Amino acid sequence: MEVFFFTWIALLCMVFFIFKLLTLKGSLAAFITGALTFYSFKWQGLVILAIFFLTSSLLTKWKREMKINYNAEPLEDKKGRTAGQVFANGGASILAAIAAIFIQDPVWIIVFAGALATATADTWASEIGILSKTKPFHLKEWRKVEPGLSGAVTGLGTIAAALGAAAIGISYNFLYDTSTFMGSIIIVFAGFFGNIADTLFGAWFEQKFYCQICKTETESKWHCKMKTVRIFGLSWVTNNLVNFSSTIIGGLIAGGLYIWTVK
Ligand SMILES: [Zn+2]
Repeated sequence: MEVFFFTWIALLCMVFFIFKLLTLKGSLAAFITGALTFYSFKWQGLVILAIFFLTSSLLTKWKREMKINYNAEPLEDKKGRTAGQVFANGGASILAAIAAIFIQDPVWIIVFAGALATATADTWASEIGILSKTKPFHLKEWRKVEPGLSGAVTGLGTIAAALGAAAIGISYNFLYDTSTFMGSIIIVFAGFFGNIADTLFGAWFEQKFYCQICKTETESKWHCKMKTVRIFGLSWVTNNLVNFSSTIIGGLIAGGLYIWTVK
């Protein structure tokens, strides 16, 4: 039975590679994530992972031609998500799955779902928020900026973040026999506030670049088919590191609240 599931995870990852949702290394990273998730959190964990991954992939492709002006890395779209991006979004959930192997405790599924709720909230907020008709407001610079920069928020993006976190919390509620309403609320809360941590990290620490062709700030190393110039931040503080850190925060909020309220 277990072999059957692992085979299906491997086949799905190959399909994602063929359909360019993932790069080759990205699909290997996705297999590791899927296998560990199944081992610790059973098929229900895979469903939660799939909700994150499939909605994120669909939203990234949705209205792509409108977004291409802001995120000028079309290569990324053609080849799919990289291993770095998979671990940035799924790394905290992998840590929860590994922890669950060694310490059997119901808290880990809440940490797992809280981390993925953060990743989902963040992706929904970015992919939907970038289409907002009002310009995003940058939390550190305290002014309106061009769409596509980390650390800036829109009303639409904030609603999308709440809905993304809710999608994971509600799914959790229906998937496990042991699910509680309180557990779901904690996951939604963790996802939403994990996403706020992501915005704050993005505003204060993430490196930013400047495109000399169209004279705009961007978080991309490439813009208008040209290399951009770094104008802020340390080179190792990338969007992936910011995402990974915020999913850790989301997982910690979820686990902390669970221990505090339920135990
Ligand atoms: Zn440009």
